[in-house]
Amino acid sequence: MKRGRLIIFSAPSGCGKGTMLAEILKDKRYRCSVSATTRKPRENEKDGISYYFITRKEFEQKIAENAFLEYAEYCQNYYGTFLSEVDDYLEKGTDVILEIEVQGALKVMQKRPDAVSVFIAPPTIDELRRRLKKRGTETDDVIEERVSRAEREIRQAKNYDYIIVNDVLEDAVSDFYTVMRAERLKSEFSDDIIK
Ligand code: 5GP
Repeated sequence: MKRGRLIIFSAPSGCGKGTMLAEILKDKRYRCSVSATTRKPRENEKDGISYYFITRKEFEQKIAENAFLEYAEYCQNYYGTFLSEVDDYLEKGTDVILEIEVQGALKVMQKRPDAVSVFIAPPTIDELRRRLKKRGTETDDVIEERVSRAEREIRQAKNYDYIIVNDVLEDAVSDFYTVMRAERLKSEFSDDIIK
């Protein structure tokens, strides 16, 4: 059985990552790994589906047990990817998407050089700010904090294999499939044709 591909998928807040992933995951070849976090669940989030919601003590216990492929602290909370969420599925041939922030992404790139990394960028910073304001869920101060965090993350985009600009959702999803198709062709190409 062919092993699945490990896909790192990062985007600053307000880049439409959630909407893009919802589209991509309609294709059953892909599975999104469920991370552990110490942050409190938001309304509509379910344990074991959105995240594994665990305490700091439990998280630190899992770190000691080497249960994580990577973990990072983000806005005073831990977030981490369990190895068990990744390798069993790759083994079965499923492509596993890690929806993780930049620090964790850089760690996975080092540990798993075969991972394909994709950074989702907004068309412009003004557009990012406009989208965050449109959501209407944050105060102006929080919006500016998110914008400056996004600027820091965008500076790391060049470390990823691919950058997709999410201007029009359908185009961004189609760009994602193009990247995956190119990767598949590269790994499946055989020079048997010249023998
Ligand atoms: P949120 O609290 O909004 O769900 O997520 C905050 C940030 O944590 C997002 O950028 C998200 O991509 C990132 N994140 C979610 N799960 C993980 C994980 O397992 N590891 C790392 N490093 N980041 C994660």
